[in-house]
Amino acid sequence: SGKWGRAVAMVREFEKQCGTPIAKLRQVADAMDVEMHAGLASEGGSKLKMLITFVDNLPSGDEKGLFYALDLGGTNFRTLRVHLGGKENGVVNLESEEVSIPPHLMTGCSHELFDFIAEKLAKFVSSEPEEFHPAPGRQRELGFTFSFPVRQTSISSGTLIKWTKGFNIEDAVGEDVVGELTKSFEKIGLDMRVAALVNDTVGTVARARFNNPNVVAGVILGTGTNAAYVESAHAIPKWQGLLPKSGEMVINMEWGNFRSSHLPLTPYDQDLDLESLNPGEQIFEKIISGMYLGDIVRRVLLRMAEEADFFGDTVPPKLKIPFIIRTPDMSAMHHDASSDLNVVGTKLKDLLKINNTSLQMRKLVVELCDIVATRGARLSAAGIFGILKKIGRDTAKGGEKQKSVIALDGGLFEHYTEFRSSLESTLKELLGDEAADTVGVEHSNDGSGIGAALLAASNSQYL
Ligand code: ADP
Ligand code: MG
Repeated sequence: SGKWGRAVAMVREFEKQCGTPIAKLRQVADAMDVEMHAGLASEGGSKLKMLITFVDNLPSGDEKGLFYALDLGGTNFRTLRVHLGGKENGVVNLESEEVSIPPHLMTGCSHELFDFIAEKLAKFVSSEPEEFHPAPGRQRELGFTFSFPVRQTSISSGTLIKWTKGFNIEDAVGEDVVGELTKSFEKIGLDMRVAALVNDTVGTVARARFNNPNVVAGVILGTGTNAAYVESAHAIPKWQGLLPKSGEMVINMEWGNFRSSHLPLTPYDQDLDLESLNPGEQIFEKIISGMYLGDIVRRVLLRMAEEADFFGDTVPPKLKIPFIIRTPDMSAMHHDASSDLNVVGTKLKDLLKINNTSLQMRKLVVELCDIVATRGARLSAAGIFGILKKIGRDTAKGGEKQKSVIALDGGLFEHYTEFRSSLESTLKELLGDEAADTVGVEHSNDGSGIGAALLAASNSQYL
């Protein structure tokens, strides 16, 4: 019927708007490279903050001992105890507990959130056996992964620039997050020293370096997205301090806030942005990361329901609820390998109370998921290619085969197979055959936890 044709046309139009031909990806990568330079040149010089992390010594592999980590940056937060065993034994043991953050704490006041975290950590520590107790006179040491934009003032302090990813706690902005956490520790008598304040991307780089010296960058694709990489200290004009002995500095790009006229943005993206907690910000993140992909799909389906009666004469009311299709639902539909697409059918029924969808309709839903995921994955690859360009690792230099490894982590990368394989093949496409041989992508397992413990170890007061 005409209505079906209209629905198909809407998907085609959307597909066109989301297009990421290789030439466009190269423009995006070039823009990323340009913005990186600008952000390193001066404070506020770019939408990319290019934050100095004070991590100028990455793990060597020799780190040993018992360290703690806190991982806060999405919907869950975790407490970890990590036993490091040096080159011979690697990560000997890891115990962790995961707690979901009550939504009211994500938009409440600062001390409520930090008190909650401190209490969970105190409980985690108090349940441990005697063998883990520190020797008399020694303190437990902690790496605090706090995955929001922070202006670091040292390896173990820094002020919150802004919230992202659905958090919005006004009185914390501008405060030293380690100071706030320490205050909450003191309130309940928890004797723990924060040895390192790290972004999850930096933890990811550190974690991957523990095993592989060729790691040059870390990228998170989870609830949000961000990247960090190892920069030459000479290439950071805005850095006023002494040059680190290593000659290197890890930079937290905060690439989620990247934007460029070359990004393929659609009216659906514009609406999502306008209705978000942080309009005008984190535009790259809003078309790539797990918090948003499912909602982009929902928005297109809603308009198809309104303008082409895609789900019949009435618009399914559930479809109007923001974030009702989460990215894990989207990936489950996208990965549906059954001949009748029954996973898609079940999802539409369970989430949206839409019954009796035809195979034709389900196929169109899968196509939508594919369009949204492919755009996100290919743009992520372009971002990575931009970093490689910036550090001169995008081409195979005459004969010498210097390896570069990009460490990736995050639930989106880990679980969304179609996204991951599209990212990996697009990066190869951008690099070309020869350079692709010198660049590897690896999953940095639990960078935000183990990486933070490693950085606590290398910044221990007992070294
Ligand atoms: P965070 O980014 O919150 O620290 P994770 O790295 O675990 O935590 O990422 C969680 C995010 O990953 C979820 O918000 C979701 O968007 C995405 N995700 C988790 N599981 C899947 C899945 N099966 N398919 C697609 N995306 C997923
Ligand atoms: Mg995380």
